[in-house]
Amino acid sequence: MTGRPEVLFPLFGALTNLDGVGPKTAQIFEAAGIAKPRDLLMTLPHTGVDRTPRASLRDVVPPAVATVEVLVGEHHSPRTRGRPYRVHVEDAQTSFQLVFFHARGDYLQKLLPTGQRRIVSGKVEVFDGIAQMVHPDHVLPVADADQIPAFEPVYPLHAGITQKVMWKATRAALALAPDLPEWIDPALKARESWPDWKDALTNAHSPQNAADLAAHAPARERLAYDELLAHQLTLALARAAVRRAKGFSSQATGTLTAKVLADLPYKPTAAQTRAAAEIAADLAAPIRMNRLLQGDVGSGKTLVALMALLGVVEAGGQGVMMAPTEILARQHLDGLRPLAASAGVTLDILTGRDKGAARAQKLAALAKGDINILVGTHAVFQKDVVFHDLRLAIIDEQHRFGVAQRMELGAKGRAVDVLVMTATPIPRSLALAQYGDMDVSVLDEKPPGRTPVQTALVSTARMDEVVDKLRKAVGEGKQAYWVCPLVEESEVLDVTAAEERFKRLRAALGEGVVGLVHGQMPPAEKDAAMARFIAGETKVLVATTVIEVGVNVPNASIMMIEHAERFGLAQLHQLRGRVGRGAAASTCLLLYQAPLSETGRRRLEILRETEDGFKISEEDLAMRGAGDVIGTAQSGLPRFMIADLERQAGQMAVAQTDARKLLAEDPRLETARGKAARTLLWLMEQDKAIRLISVG
Ligand code: ADP
Ligand code: MG
Repeated sequence: MTGRPEVLFPLFGALTNLDGVGPKTAQIFEAAGIAKPRDLLMTLPHTGVDRTPRASLRDVVPPAVATVEVLVGEHHSPRTRGRPYRVHVEDAQTSFQLVFFHARGDYLQKLLPTGQRRIVSGKVEVFDGIAQMVHPDHVLPVADADQIPAFEPVYPLHAGITQKVMWKATRAALALAPDLPEWIDPALKARESWPDWKDALTNAHSPQNAADLAAHAPARERLAYDELLAHQLTLALARAAVRRAKGFSSQATGTLTAKVLADLPYKPTAAQTRAAAEIAADLAAPIRMNRLLQGDVGSGKTLVALMALLGVVEAGGQGVMMAPTEILARQHLDGLRPLAASAGVTLDILTGRDKGAARAQKLAALAKGDINILVGTHAVFQKDVVFHDLRLAIIDEQHRFGVAQRMELGAKGRAVDVLVMTATPIPRSLALAQYGDMDVSVLDEKPPGRTPVQTALVSTARMDEVVDKLRKAVGEGKQAYWVCPLVEESEVLDVTAAEERFKRLRAALGEGVVGLVHGQMPPAEKDAAMARFIAGETKVLVATTVIEVGVNVPNASIMMIEHAERFGLAQLHQLRGRVGRGAAASTCLLLYQAPLSETGRRRLEILRETEDGFKISEEDLAMRGAGDVIGTAQSGLPRFMIADLERQAGQMAVAQTDARKLLAEDPRLETARGKAARTLLWLMEQDKAIRLISVG
């Protein structure tokens, strides 16, 4: 099967093929991201309105939607402009008015002929003591009463599209929906009592009551699962494609690692040992490793990375470790070098700043194998960087690396083993969505002997007090970060910009005490400012979030975050993780602009209550929804149309297991279920995944 299955053609045709959708409506739909019948079907109603007919409005408590049969009485057209047109009607027990603004009398005479019976449905309100229905949603001859659904779905709407248009268009799209072969595991489907795909669609678009609209209604859950399964199948296919590449089998001897561990002033945590063993097993296996090392800030990922690197060096190969910034690359080198020295291993660094002869010399050493471990920025992946025998690539802090990018890396890269390290603790359901193609090692335990970071909420109204305390702390030799959310004051007027804050703190604390780094500084200047802070020359570092990832200054024990209410919880947690790295007791002040909303306060309080990154991320997900936790744009997280990662979190794990199992049994998707799964991938527009299906 090389193209989209024919059975799906109607769903991928033009919207104008649908009854009631003309070119104009189609254009409006398209602007709203609905380009074909398939997109309409994937847009489910979010609420519904009960339109069960009743005998009379008498017992209705307005405002409420009601449906009744009426006898049409007199029409009263307005005598002055701007007044509404009124039609007097009577139901079985009471009378009320239908009200129309900007009405055309002749049209209403036809719609509501005096003396005839009609069924009307709409919102009942009381105005000047009179019950009325303004612009009823439905007015029909009694014989057509069944055209009003007893429970009418309400769709999320975009400008220019009405519920009526949506209703008609979705009905027309439903009429095109074919019966599709089943791709869900029969046992799972039976256990969950899920309907067939087409029935599920029909039910989801025609809810009978509020319960049918719940995330856990069988029809909706099935459709959500379809989406998750398609996503996990894509990830599983990417994973299989990566693993198909013949990998190195790097048998570590343990000699270098033993030397390094013997020289350490501490013992690895159980989690570090476990992760290192998982990695060593992958390195030894002849398939390519594609593993994620997930560990909160301070959980000790560097040591695990080093043990992995030493493993390939022991096996006679080379390793490379890539960090997102120059500063971090240097810190990695500074952290690794002393440890590795005792093992006689050679490390070097390569960044964009290496130029000319010095760079050429490094490249030559690398090509000869004289450098065992190379640390660097993206520069290490430049075309002319040639290794003697590269076996392992470690990508640090790469939470900005999406699934699509990894798929590309897997498709064309060398068969080196890949270890991605991330310090962003994310809820399990999101981890599965984002990294489902990888195997995961988790450092769920922190090295002992940490003093917890004291976290407090302080209003910016108390700024003078805060600065006084800071002056005192600096006097005692302490160091502090001061984080500001934006650089340019012009961007948002009420944001205290980093530069402005820098000037004020310098005025308050003295020349030479305060440093500044932000993302718009030239790299060399930024590094110099960082270096002065690391060396302890400057005591306070005013920064934008450039310090968020990875930077390690053990003597820094104070973290000030200005406008904390503007940051995501995960980001605040990351920032706070910059302190509490040394033995001294550390403080984190969350400076907020009063007044805080109820949820705003609640969010910040979570940080005060716990330092467990996973717990914080779960709470963040519950409060904000998936996209915001990681930031959809940078996350590589798919945007699901039906599935809700929060309310259907458990299904993601089921989908992953199911997808991997299906591929293990049927790697080319050739069985009946495999073929059905292909149809699912096409339906979900996972065309990229189709290309990854094993071709033999
Ligand atoms: P991460 O990169 O996961 O944020 P690091 O690797 O930078 O964490 O480690 C944080 C700090 O903890 C470092 O100062 C490191 O020396 C120390 N450390 C790492 N592992 C241990 C351990 N097992 N026991 C004590 N300290 C450790
Ligand atoms: Mg780190």
